[in-house]
Amino acid sequence: MFHKLHHISYLFFLCAFLMVSCNAGSESDSAEEELVQRALEIHDRVLTVDTHADTPLRMIQPGFDMAERHDPKETGSKVDYPRMKEGGLDAIFFAAFVAQDIRDDDGNTRAKALCLQMIDSIVSSTQKNADIVGLALNPDDAYAIEKEGKRAIYIGIENGYPIGSDISNVAEYYEKGVRYITLVHSSNNDLADSATDPDGTEHGGISEFGAEVVKEMNRLGIMVDVSHGNDSVFYDAIELSKAPIIASHSNARAVTKHDRNMTDEMLQLMAKNGGVVQLTMLADYLRTAPPNPERDSAVAALRASMKPVSEMTPEERTALRESFQALNEKYPAPPATVKHVADHIDHIVKVAGIDHVGIGCDFDGGGGIEGVFDASEVMNITIELVRRGYTEEQIEKIWGGNLIRVFKEVQAVASEIQAAG
Ligand SMILES: [Zn+2]
Repeated sequence: MFHKLHHISYLFFLCAFLMVSCNAGSESDSAEEELVQRALEIHDRVLTVDTHADTPLRMIQPGFDMAERHDPKETGSKVDYPRMKEGGLDAIFFAAFVAQDIRDDDGNTRAKALCLQMIDSIVSSTQKNADIVGLALNPDDAYAIEKEGKRAIYIGIENGYPIGSDISNVAEYYEKGVRYITLVHSSNNDLADSATDPDGTEHGGISEFGAEVVKEMNRLGIMVDVSHGNDSVFYDAIELSKAPIIASHSNARAVTKHDRNMTDEMLQLMAKNGGVVQLTMLADYLRTAPPNPERDSAVAALRASMKPVSEMTPEERTALRESFQALNEKYPAPPATVKHVADHIDHIVKVAGIDHVGIGCDFDGGGGIEGVFDASEVMNITIELVRRGYTEEQIEKIWGGNLIRVFKEVQAVASEIQAAG
């Protein structure tokens, strides 16, 4: 109901804008208006699922209230419950993200404690805001919670580091509500090789322990996420996993050359596997910026001087954000837009088919582009898809249907494994 009201006010604003900004071409204006309206209606009807947000990094900050609307420019925050509602975003996976650190018992213990703290903050946030959101554990929960007019909150883990070397942790995380685990992050861990580790490969893909973890995830019904893994991790996961896999936030390498993106061969194999690639709103994975070595070295220097975001005080985070903003102003890069997003979707649909693509914005983890800057603007993806001729049935698959299908298959495989004892 409120959703509809919001759309009407949006349309009113749009009409007013068109009336003052254009004094000719009223026919094309009304065609545009009709298209936007049709897109917003589709966006409202389909289940919209975003499979990746690092918002728990903010949730563990004292005083950060998910029920409050935050100004994205002032605070850097990209997701809260009011903005999810504004954007018509029905469901989201909040990832408990632990940056890779020392791989010993002390490091593993600290990683697990931080991971549990984030998971607990997600759960308690859903309890505190039970009137507007609900904790989701199973595929159908998203539809049921959406029907109640609330947002569905799923839990994932980004980086298998908090599993440490103890396989029983996987079941503990499952019990807490975790439904996908990204095996590795930006450097190698005990489970798998990263696509971006400066030291290159260490295990040749997934390690022996990583293979055990995949097996345990299959048994429990946790989705195996290959985003951030190197190419061998993808091929190993396809081989090892008895259930379809996901890439919770990755794009197409043929469109934008980046090691975090997937080749056409991988996309085709993903289709054969029955899995899904969730498109992400990270500018560098969406478009190739012209070379800018000064900018690159300034970014590298800033990154090198950073301690893990999770260990920063609010003041340090603000200072970091301001440093990045200053750097962006000094060395501007061409923006990534929703057109780039749709180019990647078009390509994946061409190579892998309509059943193997979805959306994982990576808000609060670097995601956010012109036109889809935060959760309140995700409807612009749907508008661009309608503009390119995608049907409601296709958009329903992209926005959630495909991911939910994979999630259901992962659970079905787990039931079979458990039944076979
Ligand atoms: Zn990530």
